[in-house]
Amino acid sequence: MTGHYVTARSMDAVSCPTCGLLISNSYRRSTSNRCPRCDSELSSRKRNSLKRTWALLIAAAILYVPANVYPILTLVSFGKSTTNTIMGGVIELVHSGQWTIAAIVFIASVIVPIFKIVALFFLVITVQFNVTWHPRNRALLYRFTEFIGRWSMIDIFMISILIALVKLQAIATVEAGAGAIAFAAVVIITMFAAMTFDPRLIWDKLGEKV
Ligand SMILES: [Zn+2]
Repeated sequence: MTGHYVTARSMDAVSCPTCGLLISNSYRRSTSNRCPRCDSELSSRKRNSLKRTWALLIAAAILYVPANVYPILTLVSFGKSTTNTIMGGVIELVHSGQWTIAAIVFIASVIVPIFKIVALFFLVITVQFNVTWHPRNRALLYRFTEFIGRWSMIDIFMISILIALVKLQAIATVEAGAGAIAFAAVVIITMFAAMTFDPRLIWDKLGEKV
């Protein structure tokens, strides 16, 4: 390992989770454990961050299977019902020539959730095993994962638009399938997993060596 890393913890300080102000631990102990600038509660690290992120990620990875295996929606038209999984829906959109919507659904429903789960597993594993490899890149990966997380609800939005469009035609009825519930759970659980992961853990081992 090269480089000389200084962390807030190695300086006996803590950074405010809201405004980033660096506060010395001696000051913190002598006051109310709140940020003097923005009044947020101070904590050196999120409580049980690793364990909670592990649990949420495992749950998300398990639910990802039914989300893709079970139908996401059932369409009943002229007494004939067709069910579609996420991939089935994408293929159908491609066949009907709606490339743009197919691409959006594929990226938002397949690529983004897999990327988030894999990236978070990678971050949790490297922190768990005290890997000191490329801390800055891992911190950037975390920020990117958090950023795309804000957009992952776009597919639920897409599904509701599709349902509304079909219902407007009034000759067909659409129902959300078991896959949709599992999929919504995957999206929500990965959002929580990203929130419970404490990116400051990435720097802990490096700070100790200073
Ligand atoms: Zn603050």
